[in-house]
Amino acid sequence: MAAAVGTWAFSMPAVRKMGSLLKKGAGATDSLQEAMAEIENNEETGQYLVGRGGYPNKDGLVQCDAAIMEGLPSRFGAVAALHGIATPLAVARKVMDKSSHSLLVGKGAMAFAKEEGFVIEENEHMLSKHSTDAYQEYLGKKASLHGHDTLGLIALDVHGNITVGVSTSGSPFKYPGRVGDSPLPGCGLYADYQVGAAAATGEGDKIMCFCPCFHVILLMKQGLSPKEACESVLKHITYQVGLENMFELGIIAMNMKGETGAASSVQFTYCVWSQENDSIEQLIQSPSQQ
Ligand code: ASP
Repeated sequence: MAAAVGTWAFSMPAVRKMGSLLKKGAGATDSLQEAMAEIENNEETGQYLVGRGGYPNKDGLVQCDAAIMEGLPSRFGAVAALHGIATPLAVARKVMDKSSHSLLVGKGAMAFAKEEGFVIEENEHMLSKHSTDAYQEYLGKKASLHGHDTLGLIALDVHGNITVGVSTSGSPFKYPGRVGDSPLPGCGLYADYQVGAAAATGEGDKIMCFCPCFHVILLMKQGLSPKEACESVLKHITYQVGLENMFELGIIAMNMKGETGAASSVQFTYCVWSQENDSIEQLIQSPSQQ
């Protein structure tokens, strides 16, 4: 039974797209990539810190991180601090499929993308009016904007393949070259064909210290449901850092039965499509009780 899930309310069209492709028998990876690209390449949704229209770094350059992982062993590709490309997940997919490496960053990632036929755009085309205005405001006040979003998607196809992908322009006005949790396996995403997949969103500089997505997979392997596993990981991290220091973290997960779940330290919305009734639900996850 196919299933799809995505982080935040703005994942709705992507989850819908994945559902429409998966129910026709399309593969998990292709469905996810196509759905992701539509959001990445839409400057309106850039305000949620993804792809075109995403917030730039402190030098005004939009630098994106993206990664994709299939459930099968060693099927992972990622790019980080990549600029000039509105669909970074497609480049991450090429890294997975065509290169002998797993993670390419900065200029090297751009050179690879160019070799693979991607057009590198001028930075001004990656900015929207919204993100340009936000940057001007940042320059004026020199205040950093707290806010994080990553589009994280998980797709399970009718053939039993599971894929997880993430894409983000990262922390607004970040230090050039800053890389978040999203392109790091186990941190921003993880998938295992015997267990399921997970994706994270939130404060990447903190998230990457805890490998939450790998932890969720380990717990699901031990028999916990996706929801129980996400909650347990969140609880574990909160316990480690202390409630007063807990940072923004939302996690979604899916097992190989297509069951989904989430946990979050803040109010968090996620979208789920299930093949059974071919419907999409937008679910609101309250901050977990610690
Ligand atoms: N985790 C991402 C990062 O820190 C952003 C987010 O999901 O809010 O780059």
